[in-house]
Amino acid sequence: MLSCKEIVSGASDYKDKNLSWRGALGYRMHLLMCHHCRKFFRQFVSAIGVASTVATTFASDSQVEEVVGAVVETVAASET
Ligand SMILES: [Zn+2]
Repeated sequence: MLSCKEIVSGASDYKDKNLSWRGALGYRMHLLMCHHCRKFFRQFVSAIGVASTVATTFASDSQVEEVVGAVVETVAASET
């Protein structure tokens, strides 16, 4: 059976299906048996999902102008 350390180091390959069928089977068996690694892998996949969403989400020019305008108004109001 794979060690917990091997599960951590192989998480990306398992998620991306880059393991051999034997490697993937060993990985899956460990996840079935080890609560800690199941939890780690769930969080790993979740973190990648969040990171990819953040990396591809950009504010439009109008959204940037709206936020900058609100900041300028807030600063101006606090100075009076
Ligand atoms: Zn484990």
